[in-house]
Amino acid sequence: MTTGEEASSPEMIIIGGGLAGLACGTLLAQQGHKPLILEMNEQVGGRALGTREDGFLYDYFPIGLTPVRGHRLELLATELGLDKDHFKLKGPQKMAFGYRPPGKEWKVLDNINILLGKADEPFDPTHLFDLWGLSEGERMAAIPILIDIFLKSPEEICKLDEEDITLKQYIERMNVDMPVAVFNFLAFFANMAMVEPYDLVSAAEYIRIAQDSFNNGGGGYPEGSMMRISAELRDLFEQAGGKLRTGVKIEKILLEEGKAVGVRTTEGEEIRSSLVISSAGIHPTVLKLVGEEHFDTAYVERVKNLQPAWGLTSQIYFLSKPVLDFDIAIAYSDDAWWDLAKYEKVEEGLEPEEVVLYVQVMSNYDASLAPPGKQLVSAGTVCSSDKNSKSIGMLIEKAEAMLFKLWPEMVPVLESKRYAGPAEVTDLSRDRVMAGQGGECMGLGQTVGQCGPHKPTAETSIPGLVLVGIDAGGGEGMGVHQSVHSAIKVAAAISQSLK
Ligand SMILES: Cc1cc2nc3c(=O)[nH]c(=O)nc-3n(C[C@H](O)[C@H](O)[C@H](O)COP(=O)(O)OP(=O)(O)OC[C@H]3O[C@@H](n4cnc5c(N)ncnc54)[C@H](O)[C@@H]3O)c2cc1C
Repeated sequence: MTTGEEASSPEMIIIGGGLAGLACGTLLAQQGHKPLILEMNEQVGGRALGTREDGFLYDYFPIGLTPVRGHRLELLATELGLDKDHFKLKGPQKMAFGYRPPGKEWKVLDNINILLGKADEPFDPTHLFDLWGLSEGERMAAIPILIDIFLKSPEEICKLDEEDITLKQYIERMNVDMPVAVFNFLAFFANMAMVEPYDLVSAAEYIRIAQDSFNNGGGGYPEGSMMRISAELRDLFEQAGGKLRTGVKIEKILLEEGKAVGVRTTEGEEIRSSLVISSAGIHPTVLKLVGEEHFDTAYVERVKNLQPAWGLTSQIYFLSKPVLDFDIAIAYSDDAWWDLAKYEKVEEGLEPEEVVLYVQVMSNYDASLAPPGKQLVSAGTVCSSDKNSKSIGMLIEKAEAMLFKLWPEMVPVLESKRYAGPAEVTDLSRDRVMAGQGGECMGLGQTVGQCGPHKPTAETSIPGLVLVGIDAGGGEGMGVHQSVHSAIKVAAAISQSLK
């Protein structure tokens, strides 16, 4: 039973009921603590939110979970006392790959084993080499490069972490005669998997994500959509005695004598607690909810200089008939990928001929996500994380033009579509407190100086204020993998400190 005092002064407040807030809260509640989650949306889930509409069950944003085998959702399930496979991900069974070599027509391979990560069928680059048209000599040159990346040991990756160099620097340092098509693929993968330019991404983080994707499967999806995971975590949280209030937006984290003492909502309600755990993002938490005047200038400078990942401009396509037989597809041309300079040119008005395209057919993973005889597809490309960027509309048009060119069978059966981009991300998940930030896809960019061991810590200089989620206190890897890891680590540290 909750006493009146517990209700008004919970043991700890968690700002945000996304996957990290829910996972952290559930772990703490199961250990006998009494967390209160305050979530601004009416539903939990954050950037993994979705909805049910006309018989379709879909996430607002396209999410493919990587790695399929060994995802930290398995670790979370174990920590919660569930079967390791409780949040089991289904890996793509069939993958399509579109590629246009310079000056030539598009080629589409409709069944390629590169992200499938099947334990009994390891990643085989032969199909890629054929598609790229590599000569025998180029193949011989490509193999050691791929081995270097895909078979690098964890110790070597940690050494690279310490060096903190970009993928571009790493490639230059290899000092090999790299076939152009191999280079283009590596750069394209930085855009697609890390939502960042290849000349900024951390080489160590890139190699980790590449190994996760190609060796253990990329683009996995849970049965029942991402919403099933957040709904189950919410139920487990409440069963363990945690309290959840939705539709409550925090405007301020309250401080007294330099310590966090609670929060104030936008309705003016004050809720006091000596521990505030924020999953609202590092920029909004430090610069807005607390206020930069409460931190030392070096930390504020560091936070201001942290770069968000790019955003994603995407659409959900509702089809009246199943016409796509793959689960996942990617497509690019040799000049579709971006380095920082190309991204900046696009922001200044350059219209690229083609973009990097990501397609996922969610109802092929789980038929119950679409009404019988229909199909649910998402597709999109990278863009600025700034919801005010003028290029976002143009980029989704380019992505759609490519989608319909490569898979024209979608056009006659298209019933409707729904758009989501950086504006929707910031509305549903985090305040935009600095220019260019708010609509980021994963969270902080996985770029040099701010990922892996260089990521901001969960602890802040303010006693009683801790960060959780993809921006801080986490580990490595792709979005959800990392958010969940942060939640596990932060819950363990809090629980230890309260003993
Ligand atoms: C377009 C897009 C594509 C993505 N694709 C992938 C992918 O393919 N693979 C992958 O692994 N990950 C992907 N991600 C990333 C993944 O969705 C996130 O890493 C993960 O969901 C983040 O969880 P979180 O709990 O850390 O943060 P969030 O989900 O952002 O949760 C924060 C929560 O805090 C709440 N909140 C914020 N401010 C306040 C406030 N002031 N008061 C109260 N509540 C507040 C928000 O409403 C939200 O519920 C994608 C994300 C996007 C947007």
